[in-house]
Amino acid sequence: MRQFDIAVIGAGLAGSVAALAMARGGRSVVLVAGPRSGADGRTTALMDQSIGFMARLGLWDEIAPFAAGLSTMQIIDGTKRLLRAPPVSFRSAEIGIDAFGYNMANRDLMAVLEKALAQEPGVSLVQAEAQSLAFDDGGVTIALDSGETLFAAFVIGADGRNSKTRETAGVSVRRWSYPQSALVLNFAHTVPHHNVSTEFHTETGPFTQVPLPGQRSSLVWVVEPAEATRLAALPLEELSRLVETRMQSLLGKVSVEEGAQCWPLSGMTALRYGKGRAAFIGEAAHAFPPIGAQGLNLSLRDVMALEDILCADPQRPIAADAGDVFDRRRRVDVISRTASVDILNRSLLSSFLPVQMLRAAGLHLLKSVAPLRHLVMREGVEPGRGFGSFPALLREKIGRQASGRNGKEQAGYGQD
Ligand SMILES: Cc1cc2nc3c(=O)[nH]c(=O)nc-3n(C[C@H](O)[C@H](O)[C@H](O)COP(=O)(O)OP(=O)(O)OC[C@H]3O[C@@H](n4cnc5c(N)ncnc54)[C@H](O)[C@@H]3O)c2cc1C
Repeated sequence: MRQFDIAVIGAGLAGSVAALAMARGGRSVVLVAGPRSGADGRTTALMDQSIGFMARLGLWDEIAPFAAGLSTMQIIDGTKRLLRAPPVSFRSAEIGIDAFGYNMANRDLMAVLEKALAQEPGVSLVQAEAQSLAFDDGGVTIALDSGETLFAAFVIGADGRNSKTRETAGVSVRRWSYPQSALVLNFAHTVPHHNVSTEFHTETGPFTQVPLPGQRSSLVWVVEPAEATRLAALPLEELSRLVETRMQSLLGKVSVEEGAQCWPLSGMTALRYGKGRAAFIGEAAHAFPPIGAQGLNLSLRDVMALEDILCADPQRPIAADAGDVFDRRRRVDVISRTASVDILNRSLLSSFLPVQMLRAAGLHLLKSVAPLRHLVMREGVEPGRGFGSFPALLREKIGRQASGRNGKEQAGYGQD
């Protein structure tokens, strides 16, 4: 039986990055890659912190040619409601960075990861499905559908929403659904996007354009499920006209490319993110609507936390409670991101006037109070960088005011 420090189950985006990071951290890794689900037409916006992580793994130079920077993100209220929020723009230059993040096609990102994994001596790639897992005090035994059995001291479940790893570890989940689907497509346009992403808030959910390299963009258009199916079946010319109208022709003439896909929206959170000798990452641990480009960024922070816990000293055996440590470490980030995406999505759907007032007031505040806007932007690119620094900013401001007052008082004494 082949033995490894770590087995990663599932070679989607989250599992592939995890396998690479654990191997680069000095661990022996087996990546169990089940059958690939159909062609993924989505794009992913990776934020500044995730790009830094990709660079640290030596992947960024390979990804950069396929990625477009997001330097400005604007929100436009596209509802016909009585109370409409003002347009708000967030510019990365305001917080001293070139771009909040970069947007790329999932298949380009996957191709870069596959190439890196094929060249990584610390990762053994096994094309098989994990049929059963058995935990004991020393590790986990994994039976594959190929007939092979593997042993690892620790298992990372990156096997998607219906994770067998999570189920076998006895961890249950909470699931919920939304009356929405995301129509996902890419389009070419005649006016350059200048690295601006525009999110229109509509009564059925957000309509979000995100730049791709050249004069192309991706679109996530959240509508009722039947409408998503209808839109996806339209002739490309008709769909292009609809997208252009919704975009208020900001990007000129639109030409939608073949391959529009519908993704039903739902939410899920595991009740624990790790336990004993197991951790669950990516959609095996958390899933929510594609609003604010959170999903994979959150998964990469799962991987960064695992790197800290499992690779700090790769010569030492992995502790039997490493999964519990991971669970405690990830709780606040995962729960707060899941809740904020949920609240934002529901606030768009709600026709309840006080909720609309709150949303409009929030956007008004963001538009007019620059320090608050900066905090939100910093928090968006890296959790903790914004709100985490709030007390320090407050102390600094109070300190400045106090020293200003003291200075004036002292100057006053001097004049006396
Ligand atoms: C429309 C849409 C847009 C999105 N946009 C963004 C964005 O802009 N930014 C962002 O950060 N996130 C975004 N996300 C979220 C992001 O795409 C997901 O978080 C990410 O793709 C999930 O990857 P995963 O690896 O966790 O899961 P999956 O992609 O589901 O991968 C799981 C893998 O595990 C394998 N597997 C399952 N069972 C087994 C088994 N028993 N043995 C072996 N293998 C197994 C499967 O074959 C699969 O390959 C978006 C999501 C949607 C729906």
